[in-house]
Amino acid sequence: MSLDILAIAAHPDDIEQTCGGTLLRMAEKGYRAGALDLTAGDMGTRGTPEQRLAEAEVAGRHLRLHWRGNLGFPDARLENTLSARMTLAVKIRELRPRVVILPYWEGRHPDHYRASELGYEACFLAGLKKLDEYSEPHRPYKVIYASLYANVTPSFVVDISGQFETRMAALLSYQSQYGAQGEGGGLFPQEQEIGERLGAVARFYGNLIGVKYGEPFVVKETMQVDDIVNMGVRSI
Ligand SMILES: [Zn+2]
Repeated sequence: MSLDILAIAAHPDDIEQTCGGTLLRMAEKGYRAGALDLTAGDMGTRGTPEQRLAEAEVAGRHLRLHWRGNLGFPDARLENTLSARMTLAVKIRELRPRVVILPYWEGRHPDHYRASELGYEACFLAGLKKLDEYSEPHRPYKVIYASLYANVTPSFVVDISGQFETRMAALLSYQSQYGAQGEGGGLFPQEQEIGERLGAVARFYGNLIGVKYGEPFVVKETMQVDDIVNMGVRSI
C-alpha cells in the first residue's frame, strides 16, 4: 500500500473535525488519502468501541478514504511509549504516506498532544533502516499539523467550501456521539449545535483566505514560493 496522505489522530471523529474537508478535497483530486485513529474512543461517555469503529467506517466512506485503521491504543491515557512508537512506525512503513497530518502539538486533551508527539517520533523512526527487518524504511516527506482547535495563526488554510457539507455528513455519522438521544445528553452538543459551531469555525478560517469555508494547518518549516505573481489570497 502506498498512500499520498495519512491523517493520524487520537480518537475516531478527530479527523472529521479537524481535517476531513481537506482529505476529501485531496481524494477528489485523485490522491489516496487514509486515516489512522490511535484509540477506539472507549473511554467516551457514549457509545461502545464497536459502535465507534462502525461509525468511523461510514464516515470514512463520506470522505472517500482509500484506507482507514485503528490501532486500539488505550483511550484517555494514550502514552508515547517505545512499543506505541514502534507499532505506529511499522504501520507508517506499510502505508508509505508522502504527507502525514498530525494533531497540533498543544491542546486541552492530553491524548491530542500525545498523538502529535507520538506521530512525529514514529515518522522519524519509520525512516530507520534497522528498525525492523520485515519492513522497508519509509520517512514521510512532509508533516503538517491540523490546528483547527488551537488558537494559533495557521501557516496556510485549505479552501473546503466545496467539501464542507460532506464533511459535516461524515462527522454526523458518529451517531453515538452526536445523536440527540441517549445518556450523557448534557455533555455533548446536539446535531444543530455542532453544525453551527463547526460552521462558524470553518467560516472564520475561510474568511482568512477570502473563501466561504476553510481548514487551518501549521507547518514547522518555512513555506516556499516560486512565483510571486501568482500568489493566492488578495491583499487589498
Ligand atoms: Zn479527540
